[in-house]
Amino acid sequence: NNPYKLKGIDAIVKTDKSEIANYAIIDFTDNIKVYLAYEKPKSIVGVDIGVRHLITVVAIRNGKVWKTRFWGKELITDEMIKILGEPQGVTEIRNIRAKVKKTITEVVKFLEELNPKVVALEDLRIFENKVGNTLRNIEIELEQQLYNRGIKYKLLDPYNTSKVCSNCGFKKGEVLGPLFVCPACGYKADRDFNAALNLALKCYYTC
Ligand SMILES: [Zn+2]
Repeated sequence: NNPYKLKGIDAIVKTDKSEIANYAIIDFTDNIKVYLAYEKPKSIVGVDIGVRHLITVVAIRNGKVWKTRFWGKELITDEMIKILGEPQGVTEIRNIRAKVKKTITEVVKFLEELNPKVVALEDLRIFENKVGNTLRNIEIELEQQLYNRGIKYKLLDPYNTSKVCSNCGFKKGEVLGPLFVCPACGYKADRDFNAALNLALKCYYTC
């Protein structure tokens, strides 16, 4: 598609960009200058919050995986051990927000660069155990910071996000330690990546 004909002005355009310009601005004041205007493409981003990787981000653009990033491998595991080891655990759960604040700020900065149409999160409000409560508190911090930056987000039903194969859609994938394995198509991936991608895909079709 290069060179291509720009609709409306019947001009032939040759450019090193892969996208097609939305419109052109033509300046006749000194010779002829043509400025091409492109729309910044939007992405759909899935964010998984977990005990292995604190945060896993998978962004899709045009239905395909575009960017992936993980945060905080040891950070959350150590905190989780502390929380589970404490008989009440309530203070630790409350402190978790303060502890992850800096990391979440980094995550949100990265999310902003992805120019997301929507950020898809798991609805963690339904889990009533210690791990669930802790993850929900991390999510609240993330929601707060997304809101402050004006980034649109949505809480999706977490049902099956970790079990569905993001490659073929098979609903009974196996999670073996850090790995997701699909018995139907043989696909293997980091389990958090698979979950975050499922959130992004769910949002891509339903948000
Ligand atoms: Zn599969």
